[in-house]
Amino acid sequence: MTLQSSAEQCAAYIKKHTSALVVSHIDADGLTSAAIMGKALGRAGVEYKTRFVKQLDQKSLTEIADLNPELVIFTDLGSGMLEAISSLKLNAVISDHHQPKGTHEYHLNPHLFGINGATEISGSGITYFLASAMGDNEDLASLAIVGAVGDLQHVKHGQLVGTNRSILEEGVRKGVLCYEKDLLLFGKQTRPIFKLLQYSSDPYLPGITGSEDASIEFLKRIGIRQHGEKWRRWIDLEPSEKQQIVSALIQLCLNSGGHACDIQRLVGEVYTLLPEREGTEVRDASEYSTLLNATARYDHADIGLGVCMGDRGRSFEEACTLLNDHRKNLVEGLTLVKEIGLVKMENLQYFDSGNKIRETIVGIVAGMCSSFVNNKEFPIIAFADADGGVKVSSRGNYDLVRKGLNLGAAIGEAAKAVGGTGGGHDIAAGAFIPREAKEEFLRVLDRVIGGQVRR
Ligand code: C5P
Ligand code: C5P
Ligand code: ZN
Repeated sequence: MTLQSSAEQCAAYIKKHTSALVVSHIDADGLTSAAIMGKALGRAGVEYKTRFVKQLDQKSLTEIADLNPELVIFTDLGSGMLEAISSLKLNAVISDHHQPKGTHEYHLNPHLFGINGATEISGSGITYFLASAMGDNEDLASLAIVGAVGDLQHVKHGQLVGTNRSILEEGVRKGVLCYEKDLLLFGKQTRPIFKLLQYSSDPYLPGITGSEDASIEFLKRIGIRQHGEKWRRWIDLEPSEKQQIVSALIQLCLNSGGHACDIQRLVGEVYTLLPEREGTEVRDASEYSTLLNATARYDHADIGLGVCMGDRGRSFEEACTLLNDHRKNLVEGLTLVKEIGLVKMENLQYFDSGNKIRETIVGIVAGMCSSFVNNKEFPIIAFADADGGVKVSSRGNYDLVRKGLNLGAAIGEAAKAVGGTGGGHDIAAGAFIPREAKEEFLRVLDRVIGGQVRR
């Protein structure tokens, strides 16, 4: 069996049904996955409804089973819960890229074919494969790329690789995507350039990040002009001006003794959605994915899904409003972590944000704070209070993964040991555990990670 034939088998099975319930994850990759599946189902004449969950656990699965759907299509989740899906006798197809636990007849997952689901294909990518097997759906490649970028799959190599790359090339051929090397700072389509510098947290720009005055001063010093009262956006600059800013930023990082790997992250491949209007959030895959996270992670998946399905009116406007709050929350979250600092154990470091960071974004904060946490020898574990328990998020780095770190496996084991559930990828994973179990969870996790990582 190949990925292709597995996709064809699942596609044929889906098309035997007249209706389906699509269940997906509340992040950019989950939204784009659901949108790809929704479009493919609609075009194939299958009626569908969509439902989003924070995580797939026994409770959410039972709720789904109670709806008695003809068919459930799980996208961007499900592979960690195959046994529970089977034991509830759900008629299901699973299209996911998380590390699988158990088996299932209609289970499309890259790991089953030796493809890495953390770096080579996302939930939306694997669902794009499935959609392509269902019909002529190649135009959806752009949504698949937004999902991959939302899951940070372009970070390791500074560009999309593997199966993601093939999807990208298909999108280019279809005329819906293009790519080029460019500055990686957030907001190139939409924000005045000094804001890109001021809000740069990855990499952290010494002496500039966090200060509007210093950002403007930096630009003036290297001769970038304002237009009258207004600062231009990155996309409005001349190529020579862009080059000048990039060189000066690299110089700045070098002078302040920055890590080579941090400096490398200044420039990389960026992905443009050609049918979208220039200067809008949805034109750039990275800004698009942040826009989506700003909806679904705040109980407004419907708005994000509307954007993915093509609504550039009301859904788009509402999403842009939510984006402002989301960015504010991320900055506040990062400031909190800076203030409280991380607690060091033998094989990990952690912070507990209590109720100060929303559980649905604590993982993003944990990922972003690695830009100022100096100790790269240990993965970052984060806690946030949640309804009826504690949300755990964890983020490693590729050096640690090379040494054996598998956070998905470690977090899964530690969560299970204390009566919770968890899993994910080698580089990033999460769990939900009982409130009183935090200490015990940390002890087990510390030991398991110690056993994984060769020091
Ligand atoms: O649930 P899902 O697979 O969609 O989420 C993947 C998570 O892994 C994302 O939150 C992403 O930020 C994280 N990740 C990361 N660093 C990487 C790759 C993925 O933090 N290099
Ligand atoms: O929530 P967070 O962004 O930290 O999740 C990191 C990764 O762990 C994601 O891929 C997510 O789908 C996965 N995860 C999981 N089970 C959980 C929580 C998160 O598989 N209970
Ligand atoms: Zn995903």
